[in-house]
Amino acid sequence: MLSGELRSGYTRFQRQRYVKDCQTYQRLAVRGNRPDALVISCCDSRVTPEVIFDTGPGELFVMRNIANIVPPFELGGQYHGTSAVLDFAVRRLEVRHIIVLGHSDCGGVRAYAEDADGLSNGEFIGPWLNLIGSAEQSKRGEQHDGCAHDLRPVELQSIRNSLDNLLTFPWIAARVSEGLLYLHGAHFDVGSGALSVLNVVSDEFEPLLESVEFSE
Ligand SMILES: [Zn+2]
Repeated sequence: MLSGELRSGYTRFQRQRYVKDCQTYQRLAVRGNRPDALVISCCDSRVTPEVIFDTGPGELFVMRNIANIVPPFELGGQYHGTSAVLDFAVRRLEVRHIIVLGHSDCGGVRAYAEDADGLSNGEFIGPWLNLIGSAEQSKRGEQHDGCAHDLRPVELQSIRNSLDNLLTFPWIAARVSEGLLYLHGAHFDVGSGALSVLNVVSDEFEPLLESVEFSE
């Protein structure tokens, strides 16, 4: 049984949002699943791509996993959930954009960087988080304020690693080189709502917008 909170949330959806967007849903039911972009985001409950990009149904194909990791291309008899999403999104849906969306205070990145909560020893999560690679060993690690618990350099490194690994998939590399597919890296700050986007020329993450001023 769903919790009361989720039941009441669905009730609001059915009675309010669906009523408002019913023509969109009905059109999408006929048109099918044809999004223009794939977002690879963390599972973190505070980082919801549809909310951050203010999109509606049918607009984003979303893959969420721990620490927004893309593994390198590899074949074999294992279960490649993230790679299967890439295969479907790129070769079946033919999305034009892939956005790797990292975020601040990422629990997966913290577990990797600090061995927090013993998560890195887990049967599944340890090997998964090791895909982040070592920011400390990376020549591209970002400077930070010296705080030992500043996760941002590792969060950015995870995004960069995922972008690099995307290009190990031959059908992604081919589409990128042909100008049919564009890869993007972005980092969302949960507290401020600021989105930084990787500038491929400067190789730096830069704010997409100037910060918004709020009046009390
Ligand atoms: Zn996270």
